[in-house]
Amino acid sequence: MKALEKSRPEIGLWHVTVPVPEIGPDDVLIRVRKTGICGTDIHIWNWDDWARRTVPVPLITGHEFAGEIVEMGRDVTGLALGQRCSGEGHLIGRDSRQSRAGKFHLDPATRGIGVNEQGAFAEYLRLPAFNVVPLSDAIDDEIGAILDPLGNAVHTALSFDLVGEDVLITGAGPIGIMAAAVARHVGARHVVITDVNPKRLELAAKLADVVPVNVASQDLREVTSQLKMREGFDVGLEMSGNRVALDQMVENLVMGGRVALLGIPPGKSPVDWSRIVFKAITIKGVYGREIFETWYKMIAMLENGLNIRPVITHRLPADDFAQGFEIMRSGNSGKVVLDWG
Ligand code: ZN
Repeated sequence: MKALEKSRPEIGLWHVTVPVPEIGPDDVLIRVRKTGICGTDIHIWNWDDWARRTVPVPLITGHEFAGEIVEMGRDVTGLALGQRCSGEGHLIGRDSRQSRAGKFHLDPATRGIGVNEQGAFAEYLRLPAFNVVPLSDAIDDEIGAILDPLGNAVHTALSFDLVGEDVLITGAGPIGIMAAAVARHVGARHVVITDVNPKRLELAAKLADVVPVNVASQDLREVTSQLKMREGFDVGLEMSGNRVALDQMVENLVMGGRVALLGIPPGKSPVDWSRIVFKAITIKGVYGREIFETWYKMIAMLENGLNIRPVITHRLPADDFAQGFEIMRSGNSGKVVLDWG
């Protein structure tokens, strides 16, 4: 089969032909139809410090996918050949206290497909049947291929009750933009999204009824007073990993405000903790998706009118993957989806 592999410990990815994976008794084999390129894949392409420390070579990359079940292990029940599906790319352990309590997303032994284990940028993917998420006809393959990042957005956005709240989202990458759409969908009052990239802010405004703010040229305080917000934002969703953005968020929150952090700062980052203490702010770190509650919620919202399709700005055949990565690396795109036929 054709696959995209990190074949050598250097910058880039390579097209390779490798055997179709063999499945175990609890696995399924998925014929991959569409995949999304993630920021994580860009780190792996770039072979940065994180990638060097984390990714074994050779490894098939990719973890955002949709496809169809074409083979099932002998112990698999409840699924069928021909079932269209996406799936959770975090392969969890079953021994930790959290996992045994059913909090699968908090299992410390989690391994990721396309990061630690063979991934989805291939014609076929082996996946434990437990991780499969069946798709109804309401969700086509290209939306199915971006449920993983939508799940990050949903997990972050639903960390706190947003009904009637004023929400600040820092970082208008695809996940920030989708989180903005989710916040509107579930009933936030004002949703303000900040970035310094005008193209991304434009895309955010296209996807949802949000207020885009370019913090390179606009003052956030002026925006909040125009919106007649007296005391600041009730909830902050930090999606950028940028220290300045987090600082600005804390400054613009109400007393007792709540913050969910998904953005990953590049290293240790100085934080003004005294201000967080005096404002009585609650901070929650967000990792992955709740397995499988986030999947349930996002599919329900997609079936109930949540529209994220405009976040997909580029569709390419898998053979043109290098172009897709180039587009992603430019920072001016939404999601790039590869078609595997
Ligand atoms: Zn991803």
